[in-house]
Amino acid sequence: MTTKKSRKETIPPERHDTVRHDIMHALEGAELSAKEVSGKISVSEKEVYEHLDHIQKSLSEGKRRLKVTPAECVSCGFVFKKRERLKKPGRCPVCRSEHIHDPLFAIITIE
Ligand SMILES: [Zn+2]
Repeated sequence: MTTKKSRKETIPPERHDTVRHDIMHALEGAELSAKEVSGKISVSEKEVYEHLDHIQKSLSEGKRRLKVTPAECVSCGFVFKKRERLKKPGRCPVCRSEHIHDPLFAIITIE
């Protein structure tokens, strides 16, 4: 007869959750571009944008928000306000310059 002792369930740590937490932590009280975030927590810029997308969605119901400062063209000052995607645009639609200021992200608390 065998008695089953309390089974230890080892749940592998979700790397994604950890990274997301690190990103959120980095953006609390600081306005950073995806590039700066990627430098801080050593994930690729692309990955940062993916997480930011999720962070933006998951924060839409609580008291915190992902604040986005839109990208801006360095050459003519065009602001990419209506951009749906968070990712940095490749080229200015007005002057076609590729010198674009990165959008900035921060996590803010609303009252
Ligand atoms: Zn421009």
